[in-house]
Amino acid sequence: AKESGRNSHHFFNEDMGQQAGEHLRLRSGLRRALEQGELQLHYQPQFDLRSGALVGAEALLRWQHPEQGLIAPARFIPVAEESGLIVPIGAWVIEEVCRQGRTWLDAGHPPLLLAVNLSAVQFKRGDLEDTLRRALQHSGLPAHQLELELTESLLLHNTHAMLDLVRRLKRMGVKLAIDDFGTGYSSLSYLKRFEVDKLKIDQTFVRDLLTDPDDAAIVRAIIQMAASLGLRTVAEGVETAAVAERIAALGCDEAQGYHYARPMPAAAFTDFLQRTAKI
Ligand code: C2E
Ligand code: CA
Ligand code: CA
Ligand code: CA
Repeated sequence: AKESGRNSHHFFNEDMGQQAGEHLRLRSGLRRALEQGELQLHYQPQFDLRSGALVGAEALLRWQHPEQGLIAPARFIPVAEESGLIVPIGAWVIEEVCRQGRTWLDAGHPPLLLAVNLSAVQFKRGDLEDTLRRALQHSGLPAHQLELELTESLLLHNTHAMLDLVRRLKRMGVKLAIDDFGTGYSSLSYLKRFEVDKLKIDQTFVRDLLTDPDDAAIVRAIIQMAASLGLRTVAEGVETAAVAERIAALGCDEAQGYHYARPMPAAAFTDFLQRTAKI
């Protein structure tokens, strides 16, 4: 950048400055968001493809910004991770999901498996085990109704400490799902070692299932491997009836996507629970 002339150097700095400014604004905004209750969870239902029953929901973070409106997680989660704010934010997510899950149970709805997304930072810093234990205890939500969604790359941090922590979490009774499965690394030995329960087939494979033979082959292979390892499979990003039919025919266990329902605020999900038992 040095020898590329005065102007580009100037623009380069300005651009960096803008990015840093945006980052700083988001970062201080996030701290306020957590303190002032601007963060919300939306819930997206998951259905069993054989029975058609509603079996679970994934909790997805939203930021209701006072000026900017609803901000998607892709914009603020990276900032939260870099700043470490994902630790208190993630703890809030866990507590809120447990509390909400218990509320739905108390209202007489059938037990749902509630999934939370976890960032690698929550495993490395922060007190994940205590946070989970406390949230389950306070809420009274049975541990087997809580599912942790981790990415493949996280489990490649194959340290003894990591294995130990995940095993302690499993012993508490929570479930373990691998998110975006198929997009990460090829070593699959971690699936057994970490006592994984479920694979979430990444939406990039599901989306083009009917038109892209490579994607169809990958989805078929994942479902077969999961079945032989005794793991459940969820297809993510199911947007059409045709894809829903195909993944069911391939033997996938569960599905989630716009074809069934978009993520919705807790109140709307409560209405959904009252109206819907099956797809
Ligand atoms: P993800 O965990 O893979 O979540 C699935 C994303 O796909 C969600 O985007 C969801 O709204 C979207 N989606 C669901 N069905 C469909 C569909 O049929 N078609 C399409 N095109 N998209 C669909 P969202 O809510 O914007 O979340 C994006 C990512 O942000 C998540 O990806 C997850 O990695 C992260 N995230 C969300 N909430 C949390 C959280 O509480 N903690 C952490 N650490 N990360 C979170
Ligand atoms: Ca997820
Ligand atoms: Ca995913
Ligand atoms: Ca493709």
